[in-house]
Amino acid sequence: MAVNFSELAVEGVRSLRPYQPGKPIDELARELGLNESDIVKLASNENPMGPSPKALEAIKAELADLTRYPDGAGFVVKKTLSEKLSICPEQITLGNGSSDILDFIVRVFVNDGDNVVFSQHAFAIYGLVAKMVGAESIVTPAKDFGHDLDAMAADINDRTRIVFVTNPNNPTGTWNTRDELLNFLNKVPEHVIVLLDEAYFEYVHEADYPDGISLLNDYPNLVVTRTFSKAYGLASLRVGYGVSSPELADLMNRVRPPFNVDSFALAAANATLLDEEYVKESIALNDAGMAYLTSAFNDMGLSYIPSVGNFISFKVPAGVNAMDVYNGLLREGVIVRPVANYEMPEYLRVSIGTEAENQTFISALKTVLS
Ligand SMILES: *Cc1c(COP(=O)(O)O)cnc(C)c1O
Repeated sequence: MAVNFSELAVEGVRSLRPYQPGKPIDELARELGLNESDIVKLASNENPMGPSPKALEAIKAELADLTRYPDGAGFVVKKTLSEKLSICPEQITLGNGSSDILDFIVRVFVNDGDNVVFSQHAFAIYGLVAKMVGAESIVTPAKDFGHDLDAMAADINDRTRIVFVTNPNNPTGTWNTRDELLNFLNKVPEHVIVLLDEAYFEYVHEADYPDGISLLNDYPNLVVTRTFSKAYGLASLRVGYGVSSPELADLMNRVRPPFNVDSFALAAANATLLDEEYVKESIALNDAGMAYLTSAFNDMGLSYIPSVGNFISFKVPAGVNAMDVYNGLLREGVIVRPVANYEMPEYLRVSIGTEAENQTFISALKTVLS
């Protein structure tokens, strides 16, 4: 009799629905019979500027060593990061993308039957990594699409091991102030880990937006994650990091696969960290694109959730189906992101692109809605 392997899979995996990524450019090009250069992808919050030229040079310099394993300790990039962030290298955990760190922290602290807390509309990976280890997810209702940190603290119970806070959050673009965050951290029991996901840290200009790394000395239960996938323009290379106390970093490094970040990613990340001009330009391009898109939405009478990230979620007009708009945009060669799986069925998320990409998107949106 044939074995039913699905029945043998562990419970968390059997009920897991995989993360839904943005539609790849080459897939849509094949479907429409178009060239890849005719497609505008604004679906995964990638940096539209292309990589830093310094990153490309650093990658070329690594090519000759392709046969060697990378530096599993990531010595060089940890040194640069620690100088830039005024921390010790022992506080850093390198990840194959910052999503890796979410997986590590769960594997270090969460047992079968424990739970994790995160907000409604929060980034989808938290629920996935928790489910994989048999944990329950407690999803705290959002307030105006943002994190209700008081309610999240109140949802912590004696089986809670981790609370995930996304600041700013994806796909809503909402954020919490320093006072809100401090008030929350003071309420969380000392033994419960707070994973503060700052994937979009570099884009935020608000004066009372908190820098999580500056709070680490006061809150030993805090882990801050950041990534090279967004403002640093290296999404394909998969590199991000966690910053925490050396004790928590040591625990996470025990579950980290030994060579989880390859030598090209390490070299490119280090080179981009040193290329401050590139990051500054990326942020300026994002600011201009955000201003353009919000003003176009205003002109079109579309409502949107004000965002401090490199993306914005807008609401389709009443009586219009968001998936129809999404599919209409695909036919125009523009890929955005449906967010129905984030309990936002009337919204679509669009990443900020180059000036030309943003214009193409707005004119395609006008065509689709007309
Ligand atoms: C994009 C994103 C990340 C980063 O993912 P990587 O694995 O570093 O590419 C993390 N958290 C949120 C909320 C994100 O939107």
